[in-house]
Amino acid sequence: MITLPVNLLDLKPEEFKKFLDSFDHVFSDCDGVVWTANALHRVGEFFDLIKKHGKTVHFVSNNSMRSRQNYEEKFKEANIENGFKSLTTPSIAIAGYLKGLNFKKKVYAMACDETVKTLNSYGIEAKTGPLVVPDDFDDYNQYAEDDPEIGAVVCDCDVKANLAKIHKAVTYLRRPEVLFLCGATDRHIYFEKGRSALGCSIFTNVVSEDSNRSPIVLSKPGKLFGDFAMKRAGVTDPSKVLFIGDMIEQDVGLGKNTGFKTLLLLTNISKEKMLAHKTIRPDFYADSLASIVPLL
Ligand SMILES: [Mg+2]
Repeated sequence: MITLPVNLLDLKPEEFKKFLDSFDHVFSDCDGVVWTANALHRVGEFFDLIKKHGKTVHFVSNNSMRSRQNYEEKFKEANIENGFKSLTTPSIAIAGYLKGLNFKKKVYAMACDETVKTLNSYGIEAKTGPLVVPDDFDDYNQYAEDDPEIGAVVCDCDVKANLAKIHKAVTYLRRPEVLFLCGATDRHIYFEKGRSALGCSIFTNVVSEDSNRSPIVLSKPGKLFGDFAMKRAGVTDPSKVLFIGDMIEQDVGLGKNTGFKTLLLLTNISKEKMLAHKTIRPDFYADSLASIVPLL
């Protein structure tokens, strides 16, 4: 049986203090928590106050598509200092994972430009493409040719994925020694209440099915990603982390897989939907970070 989540706003002052004393670190999602199209109300105040309570703050996003500049602008608009410096994304985790293995070969990246840039910034060479594909199936033979330089296939947020790229990824993965790494596994991307789009994980899933290989998941809700974020934040005890997110599968799922306490914000989900989830429930919930500010 899974326990009912607690509404933070229902807690008595002494209960809220007990909640605050139960963690030393806040790990926060970005999209849907800190900002949607624009910065959300009072988020800068929330993180300032939480730091005054002695907590460290780290950000953990599944979004590898934003550039460093864009992330820095978003954090600035939200009045959060040094946000980018304390951010973990799948592209950073993938690069860190490969560097940790002393990976010397090249990556084939079915990924967004920003992920390729991140890999390059860690000294990892990546081959990509093609962006333009033939109309005739006979011409697809060329994509079934192996390239011995490739030592890993990386799938992460490629909105320009196509049949030729999938062909190439599957071809390289036929060699068992080729690593298969992936970023975001989000099936849907949420813009605001009631609006969503398909996520790029549908392409990763096709590569996985056709190659009969399971990727090493370096994104929420994968435990490896949670462990990587902890290492990056210098945290050793997951039970001292409160993870704040707006999605059950990714955010609360990551918390459960890694051993964090979890706080779900009802930005993109109703209380009824939260309670209807069959297997995952957060420990705590609240409407928004702004709703918690008066309690701090
Ligand atoms: Mg989110």
